[in-house]
Amino acid sequence: MNADVVFPQNATVPMERRIFVNRHLHMANISAIGFDMDYTIARYRRQAVERLAYDITINKLIQRGYPEEIRKIPYDPHFVIRGLIVDKQLGNIIKLDRHREVCRGFHGSTKLKTNDIRNHYFKKKTLWEATRFTRVDTLFSLPEVCLYAKLIDYSDAHAEFKKSYSDLFEDTRSCIDEAHADDSLKSIVSSNLETYLERDLQLPETLHRLRCAGKKLFLLTNSLLPYTEKVMTYLLNSFHAEYPSWRDYFDIVMVGAQKPSFFSHLEPFVEIDDNNQNLGNIVRVLERGHLYQGGNFTDLEATLGIHGEQILYVGDHIYGDILRTKKAGFWRTALVVEELEDDIRHTLTHAPVLSELETLAKERRYLATLAGWQTEEANQQIPGSSAQIHTQIAAEETRQQVKRLDEQMHRLGEVIDRTYNNRWGMIFKDKGHTTRFGEQVSNFACVYTGRVSNFGFYDPQHEYWTPPDLMPHEQDIRGW
Ligand code: IMP
Ligand code: MG
Repeated sequence: MNADVVFPQNATVPMERRIFVNRHLHMANISAIGFDMDYTIARYRRQAVERLAYDITINKLIQRGYPEEIRKIPYDPHFVIRGLIVDKQLGNIIKLDRHREVCRGFHGSTKLKTNDIRNHYFKKKTLWEATRFTRVDTLFSLPEVCLYAKLIDYSDAHAEFKKSYSDLFEDTRSCIDEAHADDSLKSIVSSNLETYLERDLQLPETLHRLRCAGKKLFLLTNSLLPYTEKVMTYLLNSFHAEYPSWRDYFDIVMVGAQKPSFFSHLEPFVEIDDNNQNLGNIVRVLERGHLYQGGNFTDLEATLGIHGEQILYVGDHIYGDILRTKKAGFWRTALVVEELEDDIRHTLTHAPVLSELETLAKERRYLATLAGWQTEEANQQIPGSSAQIHTQIAAEETRQQVKRLDEQMHRLGEVIDRTYNNRWGMIFKDKGHTTRFGEQVSNFACVYTGRVSNFGFYDPQHEYWTPPDLMPHEQDIRGW
């Protein structure tokens, strides 16, 4: 394969393919790189796979006694986005900002009014307990949350359908859980790989370059061997003369890893053969060319002879792959956020609207301050004097200007939101403020990017630098 064709030389990295840096990462100090499989190495054709998961879950609910009618409820691939929170008790789906305050929400598919949000989430401190709230933090969760919201609508419209909002959630959760575990989903995906998986032709070259630079590569996935074998064969076999099999790219292959407990428990590794049969030996030292299931990060580090900050783990799950990795040890982390590519494209296309919005916001801040001073001035003038009446009229006129700007900004905000997601807007931001998801990405991922092959645009020893942090006072100083 001609590497120059795969990655054009001397070209600047396209914005949507860049690697963004929260914490300085010098690849020269990284000796081993681990990869998650699903939604990391393996990019799914999302609409197809989500629709499949949705349909299978509906079938399972009907088998458990749900009305046949729910089969008619269509899947809406844009219904939810990653980073939302489900309130199982109230049947609401909400988006939080980085202070964990609700910025918007829906009950089923009905938008929550500001007053509802205030009553439910602002009257007393919300404790965010796991029994009531659940996170939408992987792309696997999108179909189940879409279905849950649609079932809320159905249940609200059918008084005879007696299920609590929590029961609806638990039933949906348990059916989709079963769909993942009983092979009903994976058997269809693995027999129609082209329909459900996207092949990234830059991936083999990326892995090859990292290996050539002396990095040890490992695969660490929760998927079991039969599925892993099919997916990885489709994605990586026979692309590169040096790697006839996908396994040749990796020094260690670990399946059924049970992340996140892989990072916190001391479950032993068990060797398995090509047919997924347990070879009966509990292993402490892992070898190239062998296959392992279960395991823990301590034995993995001991085998590699590489520890903590010398290891980079690349995954898509903010909690299972990234947050736990950080909490358990000191691995460096790269989060794959597939949505980033579209997000960046939309932002580039709408740059003029976004900058207009910023200009309006500045003007609004100025006018609101002016209105305050005008009112203050009027209060100090002789009551009923023509000077006071004059100032009061001026203050009122300024307040009206602020109102008009608010309406204009609201309209522009809606245009921008619709570009990203009609209901939810951007995943990292809400009306200019960082969301809880955005905050978690900043806090726990050393770097983040749209796909694994983006590493191929940079030299394997690249030093990824953070842009300077700017506190609000520094931003003010720069903008005067
Ligand atoms: P990884 O991302 O490569 O570690 O693999 C994720 C695995 O978790 C895949 O095999 C998914 O099928 C599985 N998975 C995702 N969501 C669920 C669930 O809700 N229940 C059980 N397994 C799941
Ligand atoms: Mg994954």
